[in-house]
Amino acid sequence: MNLHEYQAKELLNKNGIRTQRGIMVESVDAALNAFDELQKNTGTKYAVVKAQIHAGGRGKGGGVKLAKSREEVKTYSSSILGMMLKTPQTPGGINGPGKLVSKLLIAEDSYAPNFDACKEYYMSILMDRSTSKNVIIYSTQGGMDIEKVAEETPDLVHKEYIDPVLGIQDFQCRKIAFNLKLEGKAYKEMLVFVKKLYNAYLQLDASLIEINPCLINADDDVIAVDCKLAIDDNALYRHIDIEAMRDESEEDPTEVEAKAHHLNYLTLDGNVGCMVNGAGLAMATMDIIKLSGGNPANFLDVGGTADAARVESAFRIILKDPNVKAILVNIFGGIVRCDRVAQGIVDAYKNMGNIQVPIIVRLQGTNADIAKKMIDDSGLKVYSAILLQEAADLVKKVLS
Ligand code: GDP
Ligand code: MG
Repeated sequence: MNLHEYQAKELLNKNGIRTQRGIMVESVDAALNAFDELQKNTGTKYAVVKAQIHAGGRGKGGGVKLAKSREEVKTYSSSILGMMLKTPQTPGGINGPGKLVSKLLIAEDSYAPNFDACKEYYMSILMDRSTSKNVIIYSTQGGMDIEKVAEETPDLVHKEYIDPVLGIQDFQCRKIAFNLKLEGKAYKEMLVFVKKLYNAYLQLDASLIEINPCLINADDDVIAVDCKLAIDDNALYRHIDIEAMRDESEEDPTEVEAKAHHLNYLTLDGNVGCMVNGAGLAMATMDIIKLSGGNPANFLDVGGTADAARVESAFRIILKDPNVKAILVNIFGGIVRCDRVAQGIVDAYKNMGNIQVPIIVRLQGTNADIAKKMIDDSGLKVYSAILLQEAADLVKKVLS
């Protein structure tokens, strides 16, 4: 689950990490009030107006502006609120539709009073699957172009792998601060920052924390000016407070609906809708669709108990995608008998009325033969198959 920058900063603060202070607002009036309050409480002269969307690269798309007066806070808040912000990370990139901005963070100017003495670093923590370890990625070249740095000068991006048993060691923090070429107070502050950030990553069950820029100001204080935070969905059950921060308006609407029906669903960009029980079978089904020349439009695991109601909601969700040209239902009848699933498919098909796309159904397992007969006899435009290859061949046939 992704969080907004303002929520991420709140969680970092709770873990003792210093961040750029700010107030989240949803209107221009509230932005002006926030500016007044920030000036009073932090003494900041300027304010940064920051679009809150679940995508980075906002600065490049015009979603982060430094306002040097109350008037500018008004101007920037009015123009950013309600805009469709396009960044390299919004769906479809800068040529896509962008994301609607409905929240702003009005933040203090962390670079004051001596902008030129500030230095931007990069730091992130994530799980590296190839080594099964958490890794801290860091660089002296923080700011808005870390992707370019990684591409053009990869030696400037360092990695520190953390042993899951030993945890983060002091020498590792020292190595990071050393490689960042820090000295004196900045060096010492960085040791503390790295350790706190790593502990926050563990405590929050995060799958990603990215601080860019990680600022060292003129006083050699380390400040998280930006923060991207993703929480491992599988651990959300033990973070009720974080779960409550979910902003569904930022998520794929079909995925939100699927979640409400307890379906494990992800939107993909192909043309063959898949309805499968079991994640492993779903992966195999996507492979076979690819091998037969199609492209999966989604990943959908209906779970072990695929009754008629579940099958119907799965159909509805798959059919919301206008790219779907065929649906492949691939169910293994183990816990649930194939004839029950077949009945569910026939009922769903009838209840939903005008399903135009061809449906290929492959039921295997207990009572597969009875199920095939039920589908064949139903008179519906449903193709049935018992072998996976037969199903794949049918997909190829209906697509051609
Ligand atoms: P992103 O573009 O989505 O990564 O948003 P950031 O929060 O990283 O902000 C983009 C850029 O705005 C940063 O890289 C900074 O250069 C600049 N910026 C952010 N906060 C401040 C601030 O407090 N003062 C100044 N002068 N610049 C800031
Ligand atoms: Mg940033």
